[in-house]
Amino acid sequence: MMATPQQITILGATGSIGLSTLDVVRRYPDHFSVFALTAQRRRSELLTLCLEFKPQFAVLAETADAHWLAVQLQQAHLATEVLSGVEGLCAVAEHAEVHAVMAAIVGAAGLPPAFAAARAGKRVLLANKEALVMAGSIFMDTVQAAGATLLPIDSEHNAIFQCLPAEIQRREHAPQAHHGISRLVLTASGGPFRTTPLSDLRAVTPEQACAHPNWSMGQKISVDSATMMNKGLEVIEAHWLFGLPAEKIDVLIHPQSVVHSMVEYCDGSVLAQMGQPDMRTPIAHALAWPDRIDAGVARLDLPKLASLTFEVPDLQRFPCLKLACDVLRTGQAAAVVLNAANEICVAAFLERRIGFLAIAETIARLLDQIPQSVLRSLDDVLELDRLTRAATRQHLGLAAT
Ligand code: NAD
Ligand code: MG
Repeated sequence: MMATPQQITILGATGSIGLSTLDVVRRYPDHFSVFALTAQRRRSELLTLCLEFKPQFAVLAETADAHWLAVQLQQAHLATEVLSGVEGLCAVAEHAEVHAVMAAIVGAAGLPPAFAAARAGKRVLLANKEALVMAGSIFMDTVQAAGATLLPIDSEHNAIFQCLPAEIQRREHAPQAHHGISRLVLTASGGPFRTTPLSDLRAVTPEQACAHPNWSMGQKISVDSATMMNKGLEVIEAHWLFGLPAEKIDVLIHPQSVVHSMVEYCDGSVLAQMGQPDMRTPIAHALAWPDRIDAGVARLDLPKLASLTFEVPDLQRFPCLKLACDVLRTGQAAAVVLNAANEICVAAFLERRIGFLAIAETIARLLDQIPQSVLRSLDDVLELDRLTRAATRQHLGLAAT
């Protein structure tokens, strides 16, 4: 590892991935130094993290919160500078002193700073799958043009990355061109409603949807796991990360969440990455790659696991998975519409304004309704995202923001 500590910016530090990242970083003060921490609104939690990690910068969404934090930090005699808004997020993602950026803001809000980090040629640890769903080709082009290093944090994509040859990991070759890769298999737990009678799905609550059987995650991705939209977004993410077409990316339900994903080769070999369902493993992998560090994760005790099972997902039960896979064939604009409509629907479901089944129904309606333009730039993507959000809110009878 490096002689001087790597400077790391953690976007979304107060979230599930952000806190897991800090848990790994905390173990290696000689290797990693926290350059910046960001949060949307949780200012006292960000203050606590700043007191422990003493970053050079902290960022909050609102200027009033940023002012509050600056006063608190001053009273604590810390030199941490406080910024706000999207400009603040981008500034700490692209800062010249930063080595690596953990992009762990949830949703479309994470897009501008993830792009800023890529454009500045950083080592980008990408948890924010929405960046690739919304702007896959533009994002990958940006990474390549800037010579950035892109390391997937999403457990499935991190698993696939680990099962690929080193030349592909180093991006010396396009993955689909060589090495006999025939198929990627993304595993999915199936979420909390895998065996719920279909007739009961209409009435499920946000609490039930967020009670994931194996993983502890933020609310949005937990609801996405319950609808399996999460796996659909991950199919799109895998397409852009690894360059394989939709028909070579399969999804299997694997309720134990031990096999995190697989790569099938033309000689019949299937390589799988296994481990505990604990995000500190992919986070530690990406922080240290190509080295390895202890993530603080319990050993996988295979004899203790009674069995590992796999099944084909039922698209009638999980219409969001089908919508997302169809979108990958339709094009980038459809992916933006899918993602934006989903974000609004999930937030409305969490606020009990719409039922669980209305999520898929609404997204399907919006995909039909919004004209599919050609997207050439990040601005085009963000504009279609705004338009779709407004149209979805209108469709659901929600107040405009
Ligand atoms: P979370 O809700 O726990 O945390 C989100 C973080 O983003 C928080 O720090 C929050 O303050 C910040 N944030 C939210 N909206 C923001 C905004 N508008 N502006 C600035 N900051 C904002 O979410 P999470 O579960 O940690 O997920 C983060 C990302 O990682 C998501 O894209 C998710 O899909 C992906 N991911 C998460 C997991 C997991 O296990 N949690 C696994 C794979 C991928
Ligand atoms: Mg995942």
